[in-house]
Amino acid sequence: MIQVQNLSKSFQNIDAVNDISFTIEKGEIFGFLGPNGAGKSTTLHMMSALLKSDTGTIHIEGKNSHENAEAYKHLIGVVPQEISLYEDLSAYNNLIFWGKLYRIPPRKLKDSIHTTLELIGLLDRKDDLIKTYSGGMKRRINIAAALLHNPKVLLMDEPTVGIDPQSRNHIFEVIETLNAQGMTIVYTTHYMEEVERLCDRIAIIDSGKIIAQGTQSQLKELVQTKENIQFEFHSLSETHVTQLRQLLPYTMTHTKNKLLVESTVNELSTIITASNKLQLQIKDIHLNKVNLEAIFLSLTGKQLRD
Ligand code: ADP
Repeated sequence: MIQVQNLSKSFQNIDAVNDISFTIEKGEIFGFLGPNGAGKSTTLHMMSALLKSDTGTIHIEGKNSHENAEAYKHLIGVVPQEISLYEDLSAYNNLIFWGKLYRIPPRKLKDSIHTTLELIGLLDRKDDLIKTYSGGMKRRINIAAALLHNPKVLLMDEPTVGIDPQSRNHIFEVIETLNAQGMTIVYTTHYMEEVERLCDRIAIIDSGKIIAQGTQSQLKELVQTKENIQFEFHSLSETHVTQLRQLLPYTMTHTKNKLLVESTVNELSTIITASNKLQLQIKDIHLNKVNLEAIFLSLTGKQLRD
């Protein structure tokens, strides 16, 4: 549905986006994960037709933003990072304003406002002035504004930055509902947990380049690190370790009272049973998962969040 090829954009001497290519299928939630300054917003601005690329092409359902500007604009709904609402107008009147910009006929617009307000859970607050809204509620109105013309693709730029956990969950639920209705969603964030929860496929972006892309399990295969469980016992002798090795088929590394077992959480009960058999007392258990944070570190040598 979306094809992006060899897209680049520089600002003065900064290569904000440097020759990136990706495709997104209809109905996918596609995530861009990367630290601040990675090039996520610049990519989204170009996809939103708000910024012209230096090189490369973007097609959505075969249309590009230069040759088919109007058709392209109607295919996409854009949720920008900055709140773009009038504080002294009610939520309803803000949405009327946005709908008029899209030239939605009045009757259709009223229906559309009702549906989107219901979707984002703010129908009962529609007549309140935006200045009385929390940051999270304003973000939800921003999402409603992007949906009024019934787009096929929703482009969301870090929609949960700086908002309370309740609004964040609300936004996740809205995204999941929209996706279940067939909406294709492009989502940028620097929060690993968000892409892990929401996204079918992920592009990891750093310094303007996509350094890896795929499903979560495909990305996990890229790194050498294996999921492991760290046990701490009250006391662990060499003899105990030898006995554990005889009982368990996993690779184990042992230092003092700690034992690192290369296995997944599914095998936890087997390991505990073996420990009990040897009358070993467990002091602490820690599961080291291979998550997107670990993948980012392994690929770039940097933390996702500085
Ligand atoms: P992200 O969204 O991942 O935080 P951005 O796309 O906003 O990253 O920025 C990528 C890089 O491009 C950064 O180094 C940023 O400072 C730079 N940049 C973005 N927009 C502009 C601009 N309008 N003028 C100059 N530099 C910019």
